[in-house]
Amino acid sequence: MPGDTTLTRRPGRFGRHGGQYVPETLMPALAELARAHTEALADPGFAADLDVLLRDFAGRPTPLDRARRLEAALDSPAPIYLKREDLLHTGAHKLNNTIGQVLLARRMGKRRIIAETGAGQHGVATAAVCARFGLECIVYMGETDMQRQRPNVQRMHLFGAEVRPARTGRRTLQDATSEAIRDWVANVETTYYVIGSAVGPHPYPELVAGFQTVIGGEARAQILDAEGRLPSHAVACVGGGSNALGLFRGFLDDPEVALVGVEAGGSADGHARTLGLGDPGVLHGAMSLLLQDEDGQVAPVHSVSAGLDYPGVGPQLAHLVDTFRLVAAAATDAEALAAFADLCRLEGILPALETAHAIAHLRALVREPDVRLVVVNCSGRGDKDLDHLPEEVTP
Ligand SMILES: *Cc1c(COP(=O)(O)O)cnc(C)c1O
Repeated sequence: MPGDTTLTRRPGRFGRHGGQYVPETLMPALAELARAHTEALADPGFAADLDVLLRDFAGRPTPLDRARRLEAALDSPAPIYLKREDLLHTGAHKLNNTIGQVLLARRMGKRRIIAETGAGQHGVATAAVCARFGLECIVYMGETDMQRQRPNVQRMHLFGAEVRPARTGRRTLQDATSEAIRDWVANVETTYYVIGSAVGPHPYPELVAGFQTVIGGEARAQILDAEGRLPSHAVACVGGGSNALGLFRGFLDDPEVALVGVEAGGSADGHARTLGLGDPGVLHGAMSLLLQDEDGQVAPVHSVSAGLDYPGVGPQLAHLVDTFRLVAAAATDAEALAAFADLCRLEGILPALETAHAIAHLRALVREPDVRLVVVNCSGRGDKDLDHLPEEVTP
């Protein structure tokens, strides 16, 4: 039924998506993780520790900030509010999840932490929390991404993490993820794998989205406080789906709030429109929508932003598209770069190139007839992208 966004009875399934497609050796580890997660959620002590870290280390709550000059420039009939996750420590929403998962790892007695990273934001967030708790941290990163996102590699090193280059495939996030899974299979007794988006085998999609739901929870209360009503539209960029789900889950039970996920429309070099153009398939442990070639092989993807060029997407978002609860939109590289420049000039906010995709879609969205109030997730800040901007953006 359209709009039915509840879990099916099988744990870890979102309609036809989700599940656990992993080597047999990982099944006990996933069961152990699911058990620890359930126990942690039932423990008020865990919630209290998490709250303190989110407040004092990360800087929550983040503001909900009205973008009046952007509204004027877009000739928007609707107020536009930015949920300022760019103000979170380490510069993106990623930290909400890494704090939660590293607390979980500590609870489980694991002292070796591994992670994969694309743009480097998840690696930086994981490394920061590991430094905070004195844990060993190894981050897998595609060699191409290491070049594109050098400042983040430096940050990880400063936080004491080891960054291991992934040299297979296109040397981006997908390859780094495969390397991290290989490491986990080999070292599963001692190692906790901190996944950076709402992807992977059960329980990860639920676990990650759960830790990100703080975004939507705050945004819902803040928009009610500011405007006395719910937004007509909640908008977020979609890579794996964690910042989008984090925002959307604050409004899932409000059918009057339209949810819009903006994917990387890319360029002539390709795209990463998994929700919009993908077919069902298995990648990195879960069934979801997936960009594939005619033979069912994972298709090459492209985006100007390193955090969006992933051929898969989290199973819950795929299910929300299946059930018509979520609209999948896209912004091209060029549109995202223009929106990046707009937000800098109009609002004094330097967004991440990932975030700029969500901003870019506003231009089309505000022309739709039923747009009355918009909340956009400003998922991260763009300092990391400055070394890599094309000349037409940097005057
Ligand atoms: C990683 C990242 C994304 C994409 O990841 P999701 O899991 O889809 O949120 C988007 N924005 C920023 C700033 C990021 O760092």
